[in-house]
Amino acid sequence: MLDVRGLSHTYPDGHPAIAGVDLSVAEGALVSIVGPSGCGKSTLLRCVAGLLRPSAGEIRFDGRPVDGVPDGLAVVFQDYGRSLYPWLTVRDNVALPLRRRGLARPQRRAAATGALESVGLGGSAGKYPWQLSGGMQQRVSIARALAYRPRLLLMDEPFGSVDAQTREDLEDLLLGLRGSYAMTILLVTHDIDESVYVGDRVVVFGGSPGRIRADLPVTLPAPRE
Ligand code: ADP
Ligand code: ADP
Repeated sequence: MLDVRGLSHTYPDGHPAIAGVDLSVAEGALVSIVGPSGCGKSTLLRCVAGLLRPSAGEIRFDGRPVDGVPDGLAVVFQDYGRSLYPWLTVRDNVALPLRRRGLARPQRRAAATGALESVGLGGSAGKYPWQLSGGMQQRVSIARALAYRPRLLLMDEPFGSVDAQTREDLEDLLLGLRGSYAMTILLVTHDIDESVYVGDRVVVFGGSPGRIRADLPVTLPAPRE
């Protein structure tokens, strides 16, 4: 469903961030992109999300070239604190992007409530983001993406700002959600352990400019000790 060919990006300051990236992602896959900080993982994700126009190469989503933010795509960023509106309730934060889908208010609220329940936050719908812990706020960001029913979910270090226990809980939550939401997921992380725990395929990024060093199937999902 996603095809990236010969993707390169050099920022306007002349800094080459990625070079010659080829990547094909099948429908329903959960692909981890792992590598050290600064190797261009976010740049790749921003190009796929249509937020950044690459200097060279091509990205196709469902066979169509990406030009601007494609419909059917949602993104979860690391920085949940800045991505939620503090003056809106949790439910309204989740419901807001559904305007883009042309849904009426009652349907938006119903979809938001359902998505919040699926991340275990059904009881917090009427609260404000700042009344919740960091881990709960990130669940809200995930619910907001899910409510949109994306076909492709992009996650950029989604669990990078929470403590280790919360991180494990959120990783398990993500794996559980795959059963109820049919989506293809691209998850960027610098944590090797996380990449193999959640991904069924691991794309190892490295270098400067960044390129793909290895592309490996995860054959033995290790049970958590
Ligand atoms: P990663 O996500 O792997 O940490 P990034 O894609 O954020 O890597 O960054 C890749 C490289 O591009 C880094 O050297 C970074 O400093 C640089 N970079 C990222 N964003 C910009 C920008 N807006 N302008 C210039 N350079 C940038
Ligand atoms: P990440 O590792 O998640 O990519 P960073 O901390 O590298 O995050 O970057 C955070 C923000 O700063 C991004 O929006 C990125 O585009 C921007 N940025 C990173 N490096 C540079 C740079 N060298 N020049 C300008 N902007 C940059």
